[in-house]
Amino acid sequence: MIPAAFDYRRAGSVDEALQLIAADDGAKVLAGGQSLLPLMKLRLASPGTLVDIGRLDELRGIARLDDGRLQVGALTTYADLLDSAAEHYGVLRDAVPNIGDVQVRNVGTVGGSIAHADPASDLPAALLALDAEIVLRSSAGTRSIKASDFFEGPFQTAMRPDELLTAVILPGPRDGSGSAYESLEQPASGYSMVGVAVGVVVGAGNAIEYLGIGVTGVGDHPYRASGVESALVGAAATGEALAAAASHAADGITVNSDIHAGADYRRAMAAVITRRAIEKALARVG
Ligand SMILES: Cc1cc2nc3c(=O)[nH]c(=O)nc-3n(C[C@H](O)[C@H](O)[C@H](O)COP(=O)(O)OP(=O)(O)OC[C@H]3O[C@@H](n4cnc5c(N)ncnc54)[C@H](O)[C@@H]3O)c2cc1C
Repeated sequence: MIPAAFDYRRAGSVDEALQLIAADDGAKVLAGGQSLLPLMKLRLASPGTLVDIGRLDELRGIARLDDGRLQVGALTTYADLLDSAAEHYGVLRDAVPNIGDVQVRNVGTVGGSIAHADPASDLPAALLALDAEIVLRSSAGTRSIKASDFFEGPFQTAMRPDELLTAVILPGPRDGSGSAYESLEQPASGYSMVGVAVGVVVGAGNAIEYLGIGVTGVGDHPYRASGVESALVGAAATGEALAAAASHAADGITVNSDIHAGADYRRAMAAVITRRAIEKALARVG
């Protein structure tokens, strides 16, 4: 339970943090430490340099952009997220209060959750459903990447080692939109064995104009269930169409199997939870 020796550096600015991570291939960023510190104590992670970004206030907080989108700084905690304009999104109101315990929600950060990319984490599913963008900065500049292009594998993302995740951008409020999260949790850890986030926009004649389905806990990384989305976009979601579409929730995915839930059970539950989450999001459309 004692980490390997490391250099500790507290960054005084984003630029300094970028220099520090670029200077050591084995450097790791420390935000809330809720995932990284346990890994270091177990020696599953042994960074040469720990770059503490925890005091960079420029990475904290939530701001409405001129075009109506919501920019959430990487160091925003779960608790801060719910106590902000982001609580407008039903999917976040559903998911965030059930993440970890009070300490995790008060200290764990949005950026830490996304950068860590645990295959069963909840926030990535919500970002996929909302078609959020993830902002990454390096000394070469800033780039934005769709959440759907960010999660690549278990604890693997499209972020380069010299990059810092600085913010997440959520879409602005839109008429006819709704969102929701439903999950089947492992009772002891609270992590999702199957978690499904849904963002929906309904247009004239109740036809679905946009549907984003983010699934976590089922595959080796959070993913968008494109088979479900394409089955429903353009149609009015009736009960039968919904159930048929939801059965595609794990199409093309190698489904996880562990002591908590075998692959067949997870696949079946992915369909059930997806249908429930879509129904809940549709009921919130306004
Ligand atoms: C008891 C417990 C229960 C939990 N339950 C749940 C749960 O039910 N659902 C769930 O989704 N999660 C759960 N978690 C995980 C929790 O959500 C994450 O630990 C937390 O969000 C990570 O944020 P952090 O700021 O603590 O990241 P850290 O631990 O500081 O960092 C995590 C990783 O991200 C990297 N990183 C952090 N910030 C950045 C950045 N801005 N740019 C680049 N890289 C960065 C770090 O280098 C590290 O590799 C639980 C954790 C604990 C301890």
